[in-house]
Parts: sequence; C-alpha cells; structure tokens
Amino acid sequence: MIRSPEKFREKQNIDVRTGHEVLEIDTAGQRVRVRRLETAEEWWEGFDQLLIATGAMPFRPDVPGATARGIYGVHSLQSGAIVRQVLDETKPKRGVIVGGGYIGLEMAEALVRQGIEVALVDRNTQVMGTLDPDMGALVSAALAKIGVAVHLDEELQGFEVADGTVRGVMTDKRTLPADIVILGMGVRPNTGLAQLAGIPLGEKGSVRVNDRMQTGSDGIWAAGDCAESFHLVSRRPFYVALGTVANKQGRVAGINLGGEHATFPGVVGTAVTKVCELEVARTGLQEKELAQLGLAYVTVTIKSQTRAGYYPGVGPITVKLLAEKGSGRLLGGQIVGTEGSAKRIDIVAVALHAGFSVAQLIDLDLGYAPPFSPVWDPVHIAARELVKLV
Ligand SMILES: Cc1cc2nc3c(=O)[nH]c(=O)nc-3n(C[C@H](O)[C@H](O)[C@H](O)COP(=O)(O)OP(=O)(O)OC[C@H]3O[C@@H](n4cnc5c(N)ncnc54)[C@H](O)[C@@H]3O)c2cc1C
Repeated sequence: MIRSPEKFREKQNIDVRTGHEVLEIDTAGQRVRVRRLETAEEWWEGFDQLLIATGAMPFRPDVPGATARGIYGVHSLQSGAIVRQVLDETKPKRGVIVGGGYIGLEMAEALVRQGIEVALVDRNTQVMGTLDPDMGALVSAALAKIGVAVHLDEELQGFEVADGTVRGVMTDKRTLPADIVILGMGVRPNTGLAQLAGIPLGEKGSVRVNDRMQTGSDGIWAAGDCAESFHLVSRRPFYVALGTVANKQGRVAGINLGGEHATFPGVVGTAVTKVCELEVARTGLQEKELAQLGLAYVTVTIKSQTRAGYYPGVGPITVKLLAEKGSGRLLGGQIVGTEGSAKRIDIVAVALHAGFSVAQLIDLDLGYAPPFSPVWDPVHIAARELVKLV
C-alpha cells in the first residue's frame, strides 16, 4: 500500500519479492528454502544475515462450525477489505463479535456505524483485559450505550450453521443469532519456522532476542510481532504485538545487521484505542500483574475533564494511576474518556521510561490552555491524589 516493490528497488536497492514464501531456515548452511507461490517453484536462497519478521497469526478457535461462511477475522488489509465487501453485498442485520480486545471493540464500532445490531462475547469478566476491571467496566458501559449487547464471562462453544453459513454463536450460556461473526480473539507469534530451525523461543513462543534484536542463533535477527520484548517496569521478558513496537524493533535490527550498533531497551506496555466517542489508553503494569509480581502498590482513580470546564467540547475523563507503596515509583496508568483523553497516556509512558516517582509526575511542566486541559491536567490531579497514599 505504502511503497511498491519497484520503489524499494529504485530508492533503496532492496529486492522485495512478494508472493514468495519461506518454507525452511537452514541456520548451519545459512540459507532459506523459498517457494514462488505462483509457480510452486522452490529453491534455496543463501544469506549472510537473516531477519525473521514473520509477524503474528490470529487465533482461530477449534470449535464446531468454525469454518462456516460468515465468520471472519481482521488480521490484514485484505481480510478487512473482505469484511467490508461482505457488509456491502449481504447487508447483515445481526453481528456477533467474539473477543473484547481492541480489534473486537473497533469492529463493534464499525458494525454499529453500519446500522447492524451487535452483540459482543468475551470469556473474561470485562472487555479490554489489559485494563483493570474498574476501568474496563467504563468501556463496557460505553459499548452498552451505543447499543452493543455485551456478554461477559461467557465462553464460545461453537457456531450454529445452516447450509454452510453461520447462523448463530453458541456460548456456555446462550445462542446469539448472527448473520456475520467477527473474531478478535488475540494473536500468537508466527514462529513455526524459527522453532523448526532450532532458534530459541521465549515469552508466549516469540523469538527470544537481546536488546540488539539478535536471536540465540548467529547472524539471525528477529523483530516485530514474532519477537520478544523486554518490559521496563517489571524488568521481565514480555510479548506485545503492536505496530509501534514492531517499527522500533525493525529499525534497531536493521541498523545492527547493516553493521552498525543500536539497542532497543524495551517497552512499558503502552496502547491506545477508541470505541465511538470513548478513547481508551493504558501503560505500565495493571493490578493483576502487580499482584503476580508480589509488589505492594497503591492506586487512585480520579474523574476530571478533558478541557477547561467552560470550554466548548469539554468531556469527561477518568484517570487511574498505580504506584509502588513506600517508594512511590510510578508503575502504570489507565485513561478512559472523550476526545483528547487517550494520548495523555504518553505523559505516564515517558514517566515510566524515566523511572519517575508519583511526586516527580506532579512537578512536570505540562502545557495548559483552556481548549486543551483544565489548569491542573487530569494526570496531575491523579498524581496529587496518589502521592497522599504512597
Ligand atoms: C486490525 C488490526 C489493527 C491494528 N491496529 C494497530 C494500532 O492501531 N496500533 C498499533 O501499534 N498496532 C496495531 N496493529 C498491530 C500491527 O499491525 C502489527 O503489530 C504490525 O503489523 C507488526 O508488524 P510485523 O512486520 O512484525 O508483522 P506483519 O505486519 O504481520 O508482517 C509480517 C509479514 O510476514 C509475512 N510472512 C509470514 N510468514 C512468512 C513466510 N514464511 N515467508 C514469507 N513471508 C512471510 C506475512 O505475509 C506478512 O506480510 C493492528 C493489527 C491489526 C490486525
């Protein structure tokens, strides 16, 4: 979409070959087995340095009826275009989304905007499992407000199918009628090739890398959705499948395999999304992760406004901050609110990278004018409250 193989060749002398699949990596022989998909022709291609950037695969449930027509995932531009075409051609009346992560939420909004009656099923007791339950509840409430029937704590059991086409989604509690089903059940790192080649894997089966994006196999690098990250707050290996991380890892891997030196220190788990008017953001560690790590923590949740109270377009914003009890080290933050809310999470993300305490967050010289925030930014207000509990 962005740049054609020809442009890659002309501008950067990169020989891009679309429609070719790598079937095998021979680490000792420094070569990969390639198939040209159009002709099924196969050969071995040699390398001095190899970057594995095979991305992630969407999870497809192994339940009755899962291969029926009318069940779609949105994992690529093409799969999104197919859903769009199906909506235009078949004009479905009822849609069911399985999975309440960011892709499920964004697709719920997309279907609602098409005038489709939407239900969403998730086996967790909340949508957006990367938020704490209290913040996730705000998102569930917003979904209900736009007319989405949210069914939480319900496990997908299978699909009702007639003439090869999906007619309903069966959970352990009910059957939801459906003309179209969208799966947003998460992704797994696509690391089958790496595993077969004996390249060491790490968190959730992603390719283990060091901070230069080097794998455990000489001359082989990995980056993006197939590669492991390091969490700068928990100081542990971490798996995240986001384009923002993939880009940074790819840049560092490219510099290194080109013979220079670069490092990617790690991530703090920042993510943003939106459902209709509501913006949702998170960074750092959530309560369940802190409990698993055995860290004593305090939290605060405040309600404020996105702009000065008298300014047109002002809306509600809820900010939650988490900090280590005693030391006051900032551990994470979550934000749910109307326009102008989500990107405030970047303040917290920078503070996490810097290892700030909550008190240091209060001192930050953030911008203020009535169209953008109250005099005390909502993040500042939350920090002021949290410091009292530390
Ligand atoms: C619907 C959707 C919305 C998203 N929204 C956001 C967002 O708002 N913000 C964000 O940060 N991220 C978002 N992401 C995530 C983002 O798209 C990914 O993190 C990013 O594309 C990962 O880049 P990558 O290069 O590692 O993998 P990919 O982009 O998946 O590329 C991997 C490539 O490798 C190819 N490949 C795999 N195996 C082989 C093989 N054996 N031989 C040859 N080629 C192979 C694949 O065909 C593919 O082209 C979204 C993802 C989806 C699906």
